[in-house]
Amino acid sequence: MPTRDAARCVVFDVGGTSLRAALYSPLDRRLYNTLRVPTPSRLESAGDGTWSDLCATMRLLERRLMDGHDAAIVSVALPGPISPAGALLAAPTVCGRPGSVIDARNELTAMWPRSKVVVVNDITAAGYRYVERGYRDFCIITISSGIGHKVFAAGQPLTGPGGRGGEIGHLRVDYSADALVCDCGLRGHLGAVSSGRGTVRLAQRIAGMNPDAFARSRLASDVHSDAGAVDAVRLADAFRDGDEFAVDVVSAAATYIGHALAAIHTATGTERFVIIGGFAFALGERYRTLLAAAAAASCWDLGVEWNSIVEFGVEDDDAGMLGAGFCATGLTERR
Ligand SMILES: [Zn+2]
Repeated sequence: MPTRDAARCVVFDVGGTSLRAALYSPLDRRLYNTLRVPTPSRLESAGDGTWSDLCATMRLLERRLMDGHDAAIVSVALPGPISPAGALLAAPTVCGRPGSVIDARNELTAMWPRSKVVVVNDITAAGYRYVERGYRDFCIITISSGIGHKVFAAGQPLTGPGGRGGEIGHLRVDYSADALVCDCGLRGHLGAVSSGRGTVRLAQRIAGMNPDAFARSRLASDVHSDAGAVDAVRLADAFRDGDEFAVDVVSAAATYIGHALAAIHTATGTERFVIIGGFAFALGERYRTLLAAAAAASCWDLGVEWNSIVEFGVEDDDAGMLGAGFCATGLTERR
């Protein structure tokens, strides 16, 4: 592996659950010494402390990785839209409701004054992993604790003049008055009803509305008939096992995502969708075919083979860090 002096690029991927850090080598485009800690979250940190807690944690991890030496480059993938000036416009999975813009690049530059600091949206970073592999025109979509996407055209992310694009998770798809509440605080967003957390809440809601169907399911036996004990892992297990209740729930959630894929396709012409995210991977191949079928059912037919253009990405947690390293070592700021 390269020495710290050879690598000298530290990458972070700030997720809703985990904060990951590693050394990135631009020579072989690989990660070394990956560290993973729980993300300081609004759930554990009262009020405004979350961002400063996150910065302090990243500083500690960087010192561990660099053994006290300065990194030449620090590249941070953040879970929210990034403005051209490097401000984090919102990060509801970490910081709660939108409203306070964080001057991320300037604050991190103040923390690492001797390093080139790059801030990049986490899904943009994940997309760069595939650009590095030769993908040019595609949409990457992550389905995990939240939902996000980015469209890439000619190898560049399309996020608009203010950096607000690529946030399909906050598109409202359920207009019912009691629609599930999103991490951003509003109701019925795609991320609220179709993410891992959202699909679990949907399962619990459907179990309450249709207790007989739930009682007959494998999922009910797995949780001793306590719908409140359903979680993403058990739901995914039951789905892969063909449990009718779980399949119905996941299909309902997938319908919304298929609608979103069709909207992206009809709006941009994107003909390649790369699906990543822990919840999607846990559900597996049958879920991929559900998404493709739901997309096909949501728009007209111009000859696109949806089952061919919806594909799974690489099943690991490294995309954000690899992409953050790849775009930063070109020394070009990316949104
Ligand atoms: Zn939202």
